[in-house]
Amino acid sequence: MNAIAIDGPGGAGKSTMARALAKQLGYVYVDTGALYRAIGLYMRRLGIPTTDFDAVAGNLIGVKVRLAFRNGEQRVFLGEEDVSDAIRTQDISIAASNVSAVPQVRAFLFDLQRDLAKTNHVVMDGRDIGTVVLPHAQVKIFLTASPEERARRRYEELLEKGMEADYEQVLAELKQRDYDDSHRAVAPLVPADDSILVDSTGLTREEALQRLLKTVQEKLS
Ligand code: C5P
Repeated sequence: MNAIAIDGPGGAGKSTMARALAKQLGYVYVDTGALYRAIGLYMRRLGIPTTDFDAVAGNLIGVKVRLAFRNGEQRVFLGEEDVSDAIRTQDISIAASNVSAVPQVRAFLFDLQRDLAKTNHVVMDGRDIGTVVLPHAQVKIFLTASPEERARRRYEELLEKGMEADYEQVLAELKQRDYDDSHRAVAPLVPADDSILVDSTGLTREEALQRLLKTVQEKLS
């Protein structure tokens, strides 16, 4: 099975690029952030403080999270409930980042992610795919862009979805999440030694996609 790992900070365009790449190549696109978000949502609903590692770890037992794929689109379920839309809020971004620092949460999601790559050609995006989850991926890309550009994209995305957003707040939360994701003790956000760095600042979506496609094709051939 072939695996393409795309890691990088929030708002760098990983999901857009990974989805488009998977479509071009006929691979399954796996958005691993959705799993952490689903656990964040679960803890929020139970009223568990997501910064309390012990409480989060202690309540994992009740989490029934799974991914399903319909017409090539990933949906994430908590039990029987499709929470794919409910996890896309700023509040759940923060909750996801909090719970993702809990070692038991990462261990809990590890097999699920690994198993998907055992049975499918995948383009998987996240923070630790090239370093921890799929260290033998054929292609590893570290996709980034400046914080301001990433915040602008996130801000516009929220507005498009009809959500309320404040650019300065989006930027501040994004910088905080960058910091937290790169400084946590387990699986911090760092480029794998053998990853290819792609900076999408100033590139259009199409330009970034062409650059990635070229990189992937060179690596796979
Ligand atoms: O990519 P997304 O913004 O949906 O991820 C939400 C949060 O989940 C990230 O801020 C990060 O803390 C966490 N995450 C992670 N490892 C992954 C994917 C996401 O720690 N592979």
